[in-house]
Amino acid sequence: MKSTKKLTIKQTAQLIKQCSSIALFAHTNPDGDTVGSCIALAHGLKQLGKTVEIFCDYPITGKLATFDEVKLIHNQFFGKYDLFVAVDCGDIFRTGEFSGLYDSQKETLTIDHHGGECFSKYNCLFQYASTCQIVFEILKELGVEFNPTIATYLYMGLCTDTGNFSNSNTDADSHNMAGELINLGADFQHINRTFFRDIELNELKLHARVLSRMRTYYDGQMILLYVHQADIDEFGLDNTVTTGLVHYANDVVTAKVAVCVSQDGENAYKVSMRGKNYNVREVCQHFGGGGHLMAAGCRICGYFEDVIEQLVRVVGFTI
Ligand code: AMP
Ligand code: MN
Ligand code: MN
Repeated sequence: MKSTKKLTIKQTAQLIKQCSSIALFAHTNPDGDTVGSCIALAHGLKQLGKTVEIFCDYPITGKLATFDEVKLIHNQFFGKYDLFVAVDCGDIFRTGEFSGLYDSQKETLTIDHHGGECFSKYNCLFQYASTCQIVFEILKELGVEFNPTIATYLYMGLCTDTGNFSNSNTDADSHNMAGELINLGADFQHINRTFFRDIELNELKLHARVLSRMRTYYDGQMILLYVHQADIDEFGLDNTVTTGLVHYANDVVTAKVAVCVSQDGENAYKVSMRGKNYNVREVCQHFGGGGHLMAAGCRICGYFEDVIEQLVRVVGFTI
């Protein structure tokens, strides 16, 4: 058993100060929080004269790919580093194909908000609404000079993980941080519009199809949407378009648990779950996934109808 240690923000900043080269790992199937956190960290740490590279085992596509700095993220690992950092990863498997490499390193640090276990030597874990909030505090502690680029990427994570300040994880701290970032020059209008308003015509058509075949269970307490690869291909879209679909289901007033099942390979499905006073993490953990109490995910292999049946059955144990 490796020894692990929880660090405060101050101790985390101290650890980072001692390292001259740092590898950051965004989680597989990256979102705005892991990408925003990594890019803000990389910019801040480079300012302090450190060598920093960002790695992600998954291609950056969709809306995230419209941001210039994502070109800084590498798909293939290279180089030697004093410190390996898993960013926005609730468990080691979130580092995807890099998990073996990560696990074999001596000096590792997790910066995360999922309330998971310590899997690195050092662990900076706070149950904030987004990892970007932890990163903001670390960068402040390090004395980084904030510029509009850093502020914009921090805002990206904050805004996407709080569902544009509407998820149950949103609190006064999230709003206060948004205010601080706006004062530092964050282009919040661009981020809000990109992630929460802009939609391609074909994407909207896909939504219409998905909504038209919504399934409901347990008197409307469980609402399920699904997307087949063929739907995505037919409309000429990529797989990131399924992000956020689950909110339609969650917004139904009777919904306690909202599910979006999207195909992710042959006989493989990515499952997004949201709960209202209902522990969806427990359900996802049953299938080897994880996440937060009210927002979690997993990947299930099998035939489509079998996957749905399993999900409905496992939800049935606790609903
Ligand atoms: P999503 O529905 O993809 O936005 O994911 C919701 C939450 O669940 C995020 O906080 C993810 O970190 C977590 N999550 C999603 N997929 C997985 C998975 N396969 N394993 C563990 N956690 C996951
Ligand atoms: Mn994330
Ligand atoms: Mn996050």
